[in-house]
Amino acid sequence: MDKNYSGILTPYACNDKKSLGRLFNEETPIYRNNYQRDRDRIIHSAAFRRLEYKTQVFVNHEGDLFRTRLTHSLEVAQIARSIARELGLHEDLAEAIALSHDLGHTPFGHAGQTALNQCMKDYGGFEHNLQSLRVVDKLEQKYADFAGLNLTFETREGILKHCSQNNAKLLGSVGRRFLDKTQPSLEAQLTDLADETAYNNHDVDDGLRYGLISVNNLLKIELFRRQHDIVIKRYTNLNDRHLIHEIIRRMINVMVVDLIDTSRNNIENAKPESIDDIRNQTKPLMAFSESMCEQKLELKQFLRTNLYQHYRVHRMSMKACAIIDALFEAFMNDPRILPTEALEHCKQLEKNNPQEGMARGISDYIAGMTDRYAIVEYERIFNPRQLSFVNLIP
Ligand code: MG
Repeated sequence: MDKNYSGILTPYACNDKKSLGRLFNEETPIYRNNYQRDRDRIIHSAAFRRLEYKTQVFVNHEGDLFRTRLTHSLEVAQIARSIARELGLHEDLAEAIALSHDLGHTPFGHAGQTALNQCMKDYGGFEHNLQSLRVVDKLEQKYADFAGLNLTFETREGILKHCSQNNAKLLGSVGRRFLDKTQPSLEAQLTDLADETAYNNHDVDDGLRYGLISVNNLLKIELFRRQHDIVIKRYTNLNDRHLIHEIIRRMINVMVVDLIDTSRNNIENAKPESIDDIRNQTKPLMAFSESMCEQKLELKQFLRTNLYQHYRVHRMSMKACAIIDALFEAFMNDPRILPTEALEHCKQLEKNNPQEGMARGISDYIAGMTDRYAIVEYERIFNPRQLSFVNLIP
């Protein structure tokens, strides 16, 4: 007996019973639906566990209170599930996409991705979104019947948020929409916007906690100021921690409510009757209102100038780039210093693609590292005082 999805599903939601399937055909589980199985496989993967020690903006060891990619992914899942449930979309699928969307990120956040992409420029480049798909399709090695996690088409489609035309041609059915200019499922669309909602708000929170931005500066930003004014009117004498949390929880709420209301309106106007009607739209139906888009843009620009480009963040980014560059160069110059398993992986890829295989294998190894593993690996290779054969982290 198949387990039915227990929520309400609209006819244009993804339906686990009508999934476009997995690359390797498997029977439906007895007590779970197919998207629950996807989510469970993601949670049990090594790449998911590593998210705990990967950075968004701040390097992991800077402080225990900051977001990591793991807590970020959980926040995205929470927001995505709320939206999916309210709109009659598949909550389990939204959760699976949210929990896997960042699996391909390098150590050290965006600085790490930029550095690795630069290292890989003559070998096909590096893109974290594509790497997330590579992790679930190929790199996780634990199942006897297939490589990767063998996820459903719908989860894989949601993971692949952007893709160049050239890469899309290499990806088969999951890359098709980038060539056809069609849309992904509503679950994929909403998770993408839940991601943005989560990081805009938690970066404000982390930036304030780290002292890189201040409440006073943020009062210039409409989205923040509106909620700030509501909070101080309602509560007098709040300490900073309460004040910030009360503002941020309201900011998340107004963004989510705006997203649900606007999208519901778009859906009502488009009158889709099936998932195909969703895919054939000329633009995504999940959207923020125009006014929220403007406010969001203002906040993003503020964060870019005041947080992401803060000199202290730049210093971390510079160190991160130096570590990634040095590791990549050292492994390329002498692959024999790679750990046995990583070297085997590289040789396998080189056999299939003599020009780019070795570099791709090294990029897989580096991209899989956590922040702290990359730092320790760098120390082991370049610190002349570390001549011991004993590895701190095997
Ligand atoms: Mg994300």
